Amino acid sequence: MTYKITMIPGDGIGPEISEAMRTVVDATGVDIEWETQMAGAEVMDEFGTPLPEQVLESIRRNKVAIKGPITTPVGTGFRSVNVALRKELDLYACLRPCRSYEGVRSRYEDIDLVVVRENTEDLYAGIESMIDEDTGESIKRITRAASRRIARFALDYAQEEGRSKVTAVHKANIMKCSDGLFLEACGQEAALSPDIEFEDRIVDNMCMQLVQYPERYDIMVLPNLYGDIVSDLCAGLIGGLGVAPGANIGDDVAVFEPTHGSAPGYAGKNKVNPTALILSAVLMLKHIGEREAAERVDAAVAAVIAEGKNTTYDLGGTVGTREMGEAIAARL
Ligand code: NAD
Repeated sequence: MTYKITMIPGDGIGPEISEAMRTVVDATGVDIEWETQMAGAEVMDEFGTPLPEQVLESIRRNKVAIKGPITTPVGTGFRSVNVALRKELDLYACLRPCRSYEGVRSRYEDIDLVVVRENTEDLYAGIESMIDEDTGESIKRITRAASRRIARFALDYAQEEGRSKVTAVHKANIMKCSDGLFLEACGQEAALSPDIEFEDRIVDNMCMQLVQYPERYDIMVLPNLYGDIVSDLCAGLIGGLGVAPGANIGDDVAVFEPTHGSAPGYAGKNKVNPTALILSAVLMLKHIGEREAAERVDAAVAAVIAEGKNTTYDLGGTVGTREMGEAIAARL
């Protein structure tokens, strides 16, 4: 079977890590026809938008895409392509597994956590205004439908991956309407999945617990803002952004991408770590049903990092992005 997959290299370090990822995925033997689509600042002049319609069409057609990071100019310029993609394709679930790899310097050794973040509402919906010149407001809107949908995603993911517990994270003691509704909706879904243990934590307590006792947690489900913050906290627990993969998933379409950004200062230097994008490809392979290939890539990444000979600077090594990708491919 041939899979058609949209590949968006992105900008900054995106093209280099995308090339390394492709070398690795092609080495699995899974037959993928890559459809390369350009998005970001570089296509602005040609198409008048950083997210041309053909990119969205390609993803809608192929149902699966993998992308490198895309720079969002601060203050002026276009809106984030990453946010626009999530919105246009209704990619409501942001999935960020965080696992320790031997050889990655970190304060912890056995982290195995999954962050499931609601991607479409909360304070990120952009419902905000200046009331007067000295007063601004951003509206936090949470719906039962979106909360149940993300809780269902987390519970189903737990089932598929053989995991046992889902923790809903909130601040329902203070925001009784919005976070209270989120918690209630998560509980309603959890009642339909009695095989999965369900509990909840207040977000500030959760942050402390994750630093003190990360082994007590498994999958966390969070509204958008807390999810954004807690996923970076969890990336910190496993040794940083270079090894933190991610996915944005909807009912029809899924887009896989690393947690990190385009690190423009490193662009074109063949220097940065391709692992986060390669591990995003592991999530992608699982998603399309190629679980065995996914597990082989994961094991090859783990072996190359543990050996420490062919790793990038951030992992204490001296080789470049391309060479690390080739070493992982060679292990396959
Ligand atoms: P960043 O993640 O790009 O980089 C921060 C630092 O982390 C880098 O300077 C580097 O030291 C380190 N780093 C990141 N990726 C690495 C890797 N693969 N290997 C080794 N080290 C790595 O964050 P930033 O500087 O805040 O953002 C740069 C741009 O990326 C911004 O325009 C931002 O909007 C964009 N961004 C895009 C996405 C996305 O495309 N989904 C996500 C986050 C940020």
